[in-house]
Amino acid sequence: MQPIQASLSTEQQRVEQIVQQQRHFFASGQTLDLAFRKESLKRLQQAIRQHEQVIFDAMYADFKKPAFESFATEVGFVELELKLILDNLHKWAKPRKVKETLINFPARSYIYPEPYGVALVIAPWNYPFQLLINPLIGAMAAGNCAVVKPSEITANTSAVISKIIRENFDEAYIASVEGGVSTSQYLLAQRFDYIFFTGSTKVGQIVMKAAAEHLTPVTLELGGKSPAIIAVDADLELAARRITWGKFLNAGQTCVAPDYVLVREQVKEEFIQLVEQCIQEFYGPDPAESPDYARIVNDSHFNRLQSYLRNGNVRTGGKTEVATRYIAPTVLDQVSWEHPVMQEEIFGPILPVLSYNSLDEAIKIVNQQEKPLALYLFSSSEQRKERVLKNVSFGGGCINDSISHLINPNLPFGGVGQSGIGSYHGKSSFNLFSHQKGVVHRGTWVDLPLRYPPYKDRLPLL
Ligand code: NAD
Repeated sequence: MQPIQASLSTEQQRVEQIVQQQRHFFASGQTLDLAFRKESLKRLQQAIRQHEQVIFDAMYADFKKPAFESFATEVGFVELELKLILDNLHKWAKPRKVKETLINFPARSYIYPEPYGVALVIAPWNYPFQLLINPLIGAMAAGNCAVVKPSEITANTSAVISKIIRENFDEAYIASVEGGVSTSQYLLAQRFDYIFFTGSTKVGQIVMKAAAEHLTPVTLELGGKSPAIIAVDADLELAARRITWGKFLNAGQTCVAPDYVLVREQVKEEFIQLVEQCIQEFYGPDPAESPDYARIVNDSHFNRLQSYLRNGNVRTGGKTEVATRYIAPTVLDQVSWEHPVMQEEIFGPILPVLSYNSLDEAIKIVNQQEKPLALYLFSSSEQRKERVLKNVSFGGGCINDSISHLINPNLPFGGVGQSGIGSYHGKSSFNLFSHQKGVVHRGTWVDLPLRYPPYKDRLPLL
């Protein structure tokens, strides 16, 4: 017992020391310099390019993530974000002039984006690289120091992230602290100036409580059950293809994966058959043999997912292999909202298909659940698109596609309600990690006396 306690307190001390060092470094004002920020971002860009293969290997070792997916959804994604931010930082960081109000005449008003100070970024395991590096880029671009904590579940990727950070940045500016729940708790006990958390809704609540202790602003990127609604007029073949891709990418371990499908009753059978065909096309007759299909990240998630296979009726897939944590791409039907698969976020390669009889009914079903992180509507009718967009609240989403909204950095990405607070990507990231300081510059050549007492009988003048 003794050594464990000793090592925990050493870790605690290390965390406290890093935060102290970062406070000093921030106070030195170096991060306020745009040239310093750009140089740091370029160093990160260079390091990522140099480590590309090592990052792919780490993610393959963690959960057999295919290299193509590692590039498209992690490294390439981060590279695009870096390029966008490097190209635009000088514009975004400038004070922004806003319209003046006559009451302040003569004056000019500006918004000055300023860094908060020392930021904490806590990341999950499912996109272990980009969900840590992307917020870090935003924090650095805005001029913050940052402590990042990668997920302990994807240990190989966490080690590579720490190596890149250690080799390129002084801990007093950017530091990676690896570890699990207790490390996270030590970090959350510190006073940070901003906390950016991506993970489950349950842990999001813990993070927000800890942040409240110091009144630290938070962004919470959480999860939930994201529906895909298929209207009667949808291009069914395309819908099946785009949903199959979005669902089984990363073996379903994607926060914005279509969690379940709501399809108009009369096209349900045809839709299920089309999804079966797409699974065959994408992953071959035995997806276990496919080099393009990832595995479940650990035993506890594997067991949880395997238990869902007892819910409803397996229409396709359903095969599992404990040793490799393989779960075949699976379609379920005849599930009810009482089944665990419909009560919890699935976060794996199991797609329940439910039916509805009118769009109003589908909207009602979705609105009875917590507000989802994403929603996908497949329809060719402008009127149906408008009805869903007007009547359902969700973090973000697509019409006639899945997942692709998060690829456009000009769209803010985040949840609403239980699926999250705040949004980032591109300029939204820069703004998120910047306090927007509003300042009036009053002219001194005249000082209208109207506001000064004694007021006498000025009220009718206003
Ligand atoms: P998680 O909440 O279990 O863990 C996230 C991070 O929090 C990890 O770094 C972990 O070490 C830490 N943590 C875990 N328990 C903690 C505790 N009790 N106190 C303090 N810190 C703790 O989430 P996960 O399993 O890594 O990721 C899956 C979840 O993340 C899903 O719900 C998914 O929808 C969500 N997610 C959301 C987004 C998004 O962008 N909105 C993206 C990816 C994943």
